[in-house]
Amino acid sequence: MMRALVVTAPGKAEVREVPMPIAAPGQVIVDVERVGVCGTDVELFTGEMSYLHSGASSYPLRPGHEWSGTVRSVGAGVGESWIGRRVTGDTMIGCGDCRRCLAGRHHVCPERHELGIRDGLPGALAERMAFPAAYLHPLPDSVDAVAGAMVEPAGNAQRCVDAADLAAGERLLILGTGTIGLLTAMLARARGLEVHLLGQELEFARSLGFSQSWDVASLPSTTLPSTTLPSTTLPTLSWDAVVDATNAPSMPGLAISLVEPGRRVVHIGLSGTPSMIDTRDAVLKDVTTVGILGASAGLADAIAAFAAGAIDPRPLVAATVGLEEAAAVLSGSRPAGAGPGPKIQINPRIAYGGR
Ligand SMILES: [Zn+2]
Ligand SMILES: [Zn+2]
Repeated sequence: MMRALVVTAPGKAEVREVPMPIAAPGQVIVDVERVGVCGTDVELFTGEMSYLHSGASSYPLRPGHEWSGTVRSVGAGVGESWIGRRVTGDTMIGCGDCRRCLAGRHHVCPERHELGIRDGLPGALAERMAFPAAYLHPLPDSVDAVAGAMVEPAGNAQRCVDAADLAAGERLLILGTGTIGLLTAMLARARGLEVHLLGQELEFARSLGFSQSWDVASLPSTTLPSTTLPSTTLPTLSWDAVVDATNAPSMPGLAISLVEPGRRVVHIGLSGTPSMIDTRDAVLKDVTTVGILGASAGLADAIAAFAAGAIDPRPLVAATVGLEEAAAVLSGSRPAGAGPGPKIQINPRIAYGGR
């Protein structure tokens, strides 16, 4: 038996002893080292996640899709050279033979599993997990377990930077100072873009060197009292592209209103209620809008950026706790002694209190 986190109902999760996974043909068994907790996991825990309402996911479930680990054993049809390799993997597991999968768009396969999110494929919040070898990504020695579990969010961020389609020296505005916003900022800076952030965690963003971080409460359109210092007010500049990495319903429309005509807006944030945009704004400004679902096509580049030292995602990790504290983290509490970063990681192999 092994320990795993099981979410049993909205707001209810517990560590359970469950049977050790056995590798089916095409799968490997991974010793899990780190698992990042993200907004999707929180929504699966609270019951807000849309897949729970559409029937694509149901309780009980085991979350965990931002992970790193070491391959322990392999199933039939998988090369033994995988054993002992340090890995992470794609969240999006396609059927492998539909029209979309064959065209390289497995992340939108209608039959796909999303590890720890959709369609009953148990996630990484356990001591070990079974995972399809075809969706593994090896980690170089220079990418440790902490960074390895940041590859998945960084893959999403990489896709945002790619979709913004900017040349070095052009100006990118990122809405949101959470994990995806900050990783997008880091990758964009590494590409030579002028990066601005609009959000709430300005002090932390500035500590990462993003001096051009602006307070979302300074926007003239908000009804919040104007208590912000002038230095945190979003300047009036030409935004060559805008990425929305927030969960606020008003932000997609704001992104379209701010971007330069003829350029691109990238949507990766999801709000809990419909975010309305007036398509006349997009048409009359000739704006291209792009939606990003998942990290798949960005994973290899994210690993390469980490390995080359182009960016270091580890300052974003505020704390690492054991499985016993996962339910508290999912319900929104910050572990004692947590740093200022937005990401909490779980090490499923340490017991309560880090012992
Ligand atoms: Zn995530
Ligand atoms: Zn498919």
